[in-house]
Amino acid sequence: MRVFPRFELFFLAFYTSLIVLVGVLVFFMTGSGETLILAALLLAFYLALALGKPLRRRRAARAQLPGEWREFLQAQSPFYRGLEDKGRAGFERDVRLFLAETRIAGTGGAPVSWQSRLLVAAGAAIMLHGRPDQEPPLRDGVTVYPGRAFDRNYRAGQGNIAGQAPAGGPLLVAEKSLHEGFADGHDGTNVIIHELAHYFDHEARKGGLKIVGASGVEMDWREAIAGEYRTHDFAASALDPYAAQNEAEFFACASEVFFERPGHLAAIHPGLFSLLVEFYGQDPRTTIMKGDR
Ligand SMILES: [Zn+2]
Repeated sequence: MRVFPRFELFFLAFYTSLIVLVGVLVFFMTGSGETLILAALLLAFYLALALGKPLRRRRAARAQLPGEWREFLQAQSPFYRGLEDKGRAGFERDVRLFLAETRIAGTGGAPVSWQSRLLVAAGAAIMLHGRPDQEPPLRDGVTVYPGRAFDRNYRAGQGNIAGQAPAGGPLLVAEKSLHEGFADGHDGTNVIIHELAHYFDHEARKGGLKIVGASGVEMDWREAIAGEYRTHDFAASALDPYAAQNEAEFFACASEVFFERPGHLAAIHPGLFSLLVEFYGQDPRTTIMKGDR
């Protein structure tokens, strides 16, 4: 994540220039000094509104993570443990930016513990680590359900749904499953990685992402992942059997294994692995394996 995303800087510069330009033009056409005062007021009003977010991000980027947060990440995340100093500083900054920008609430707006908020942010920071220009695709925030699961009627503590990624709503995750996803960093199961992967996938499909496949040929993201899904040997798969459901679940399950058992995935499914390296802009084997020492 960038402290100041480029597209936002572009809009800021564009509207600032537009207000100044129109103000000066009207002044030259009418000769009325009031026009300049009006343009200056309009500019001040616009900047007061538009600068709120960049200033908030700058504050978040400059802050430090509390010591106990670092200790918690150290204990919970092999990925974090495996990062060099520079990578770790970037990871921590992503965590702070994510938390400054993303609404994370319990059901009914209940507060969420810092540990659970930190694990959600860590999931996003892991997945964004190789893509500094990308923002987390979570416009509607995250809702944390109490207990291990919820059911189809969204009753907490019932059913067996650990998480869900509705396209037009917040990411849903059951708190106990969120923690369990990190408790064993090498079992290839991590619900927050799985649900975030669905949002990244939505965004890539919507944006018509182009990607270079194992063959070195640029192709549409949809085609690339569909091709892997079609040719995947599910009988000898490194992925959870749920991956066979459809392309979206295939990618989400593959992302969990990619970030938790990258060596295993690379050995068994090299084509899928290199597609994910391309998609996520990183090879987690280096990070995870260092974190294991
Ligand atoms: Zn899923």
